[in-house]
Amino acid sequence: MAQTASRRKAKVAIREQWCKGCGICVAFCPLKVLGLSEENKAYVNQDACNGCRLCERLCPDFAIDIGEEDDAKPQAASGPGK
Ligand code: SF4
Ligand code: SF4
Repeated sequence: MAQTASRRKAKVAIREQWCKGCGICVAFCPLKVLGLSEENKAYVNQDACNGCRLCERLCPDFAIDIGEEDDAKPQAASGPGK
């Protein structure tokens, strides 16, 4: 049911080139919808994510960006500046 969701669906974008596979996002995601691939890069079960943004805040490498699917274009990344 719940076809008419009152909030937009979050879109999790993971920048694999910035992910170092520390697993912090995986450990702290409250819904356990993040995982690490065999290449030690984070991936997400997009459909199960509730858009809480915790992973985006916790990632030390700014490798996760949460956008809204309705927007279709997440903001351009302002990188870590390294
Ligand atoms: S936004 Fe929240 S629910 Fe979605 S992957 Fe990140 S921590 Fe998990
Ligand atoms: S917290 Fe960031 S660097 Fe660590 S596994 Fe998750 S996306 Fe990769």
